[in-house]
Amino acid sequence: MNTSPAIVILGSGSLATARRIQQRYPQALVHGLEGRVEGADRQYAAFGDTLRALYQQGTPIIALCAAGIVIRTLAPLLNEKGAEPPVLVVAEDGSAVVPLLGGLGGVNVMARELGEVLGVAAAITTSGELRFGTCLLNPPPGYALADLEQGKRFVSDLLAGEAVRIEGDAPWLGQAQLPASDSAQRTIHVGCTARPASRDELLIHARCVVVAVATGGADLAPRVRDALQAAGIAEPALACLLASDADMAEPALHEAARALNVALRFVPAGTDLQQMLGDALPAARVESVGGLALAIAPAPVEVERLGRRRGRLAVIGLGPGAAELMVPAVKAELAQAQDVLGYETYVRMAGPFRDDQVLHCTDNREEMQRARHAFELAAQGRSVVVVSSGDPGVFAMAAAVLEALHESAQPAWQRVELEILPGVSASLATAAQAGAPLGHDFCVMSLSDNLKPWSIIEKRLDLAAQADLVLAFYNPISKARPHQLGQALEVVRRHRQAHTPVVLGRDIGRPGQTLRVVTLGELEPMMVDMRTMVLIGSSTTCTFARVGGGEWVYTPRWYPTRP
Ligand code: SAH
Repeated sequence: MNTSPAIVILGSGSLATARRIQQRYPQALVHGLEGRVEGADRQYAAFGDTLRALYQQGTPIIALCAAGIVIRTLAPLLNEKGAEPPVLVVAEDGSAVVPLLGGLGGVNVMARELGEVLGVAAAITTSGELRFGTCLLNPPPGYALADLEQGKRFVSDLLAGEAVRIEGDAPWLGQAQLPASDSAQRTIHVGCTARPASRDELLIHARCVVVAVATGGADLAPRVRDALQAAGIAEPALACLLASDADMAEPALHEAARALNVALRFVPAGTDLQQMLGDALPAARVESVGGLALAIAPAPVEVERLGRRRGRLAVIGLGPGAAELMVPAVKAELAQAQDVLGYETYVRMAGPFRDDQVLHCTDNREEMQRARHAFELAAQGRSVVVVSSGDPGVFAMAAAVLEALHESAQPAWQRVELEILPGVSASLATAAQAGAPLGHDFCVMSLSDNLKPWSIIEKRLDLAAQADLVLAFYNPISKARPHQLGQALEVVRRHRQAHTPVVLGRDIGRPGQTLRVVTLGELEPMMVDMRTMVLIGSSTTCTFARVGGGEWVYTPRWYPTRP
């Protein structure tokens, strides 16, 4: 998940403050209201929908506007269960920082950071935080609170004047201003052993245990739980599972990691896992319990430095161009991508990107090479995205990526987590603007003969036109083959009447888009270029005037029955 904050602004007056905030969070994007803010990183149309969507995705929000607006906007969501991301409001001129929500998600930490950037004191109101300078209920990564409700009681006790003693190693607590006393009754216990917390204790688990798992088996998660229990380890102390990379694609392993809510890391096949644990965590105690090897380190394990993760390759469709027409799963994938590959125009369309994201722009024709490069990167454990316009499965990269995988004998490529994420294809985006020309059976064709002989194109055109299917033409024409559209239309005209409606959508969903409705009789190749989508109606496709100008085009759902 992407946890970079979203900086949301309503007017250009906030842009300067937003950019100052962005210097503190370089991965954050500035979202600006369409028509009001020039030069934001992302544009949005509706403030309420945008804010609620960000909140529901768990994205930290820094809104540069009145607190009341944000409170009213998010109020309907506050009773819903689920993670509460930090939400802060900042005065447009940067003179005030108010943390609103997400106390357990670190909102006060962010408020202080923002206060520092803007040179103001953050409006922190959380008693524990004010008194102790840290939120005891929100330990840093590597630590997990055993029980939130008990934790709240404990903090109230400290606020009421109780002193506290720290047992175990927790460097971050050293910086807190706790009412410490060696003779205190209340203790904060930091460790990884399973034990019931006493009334006077705040139990924090250090995530310092790694379990090496040999192969899947459906009952892996319960086996890990049993092994932890047998070793006297609390489950939240589990930092990750470690497995051989030969098992990287094994579903049971991933299910177990999900069930235990931990990361899965891999080491080269053939490595002795127990040995590996010992080597990677030299200070750890390695035990064998119930057929599993357990490593118990003296401090939280830095999971990112242990073996490597499974690489991911997503082939995504951007839709026709407009950000609103990009599906949310694609947006999320772009946000977590480490490498982005594609034709330069589309990579640019998919941006803006952060400095840490690597862009690999290539020529439009190097598809197979690009697909192989994507696998090479993903096989190293990286998160890779290959971009296509429209839908990746429609005359685009998804088939090239699968072809590269099919041809490859490399086990490391087969183990990559591969996913294809759909997009709104040009024919659908064009059809929607014109009305519903694809409302009945239709046929999609690319008129490019780069990868297929022209004779097959003519044959298919002939049969599809004869079958009275609506026709959607991708790649209708190019400089290299200026005459072919004319030839194609000749074939179609054998079966279709001159008054048949034709929709021409150019740069749909992009700046300067145009939509034209003509008849087949009027259609000339010079009206069409390689950025145009051509939709040719069937015998039932019809048009009627739209209020406000232009025409609606649709193909009815029914078809006349023959007498
Ligand atoms: N994968 C893409 C299609 C790639 S083929 C998709 O699903 O949309 C490229 C052809 O698609 C172009 O020659 C043009 O005919 C059409 N096309 C792509 N984007 C378009 C847009 N925004 N407006 C009109 N046609 C477009």
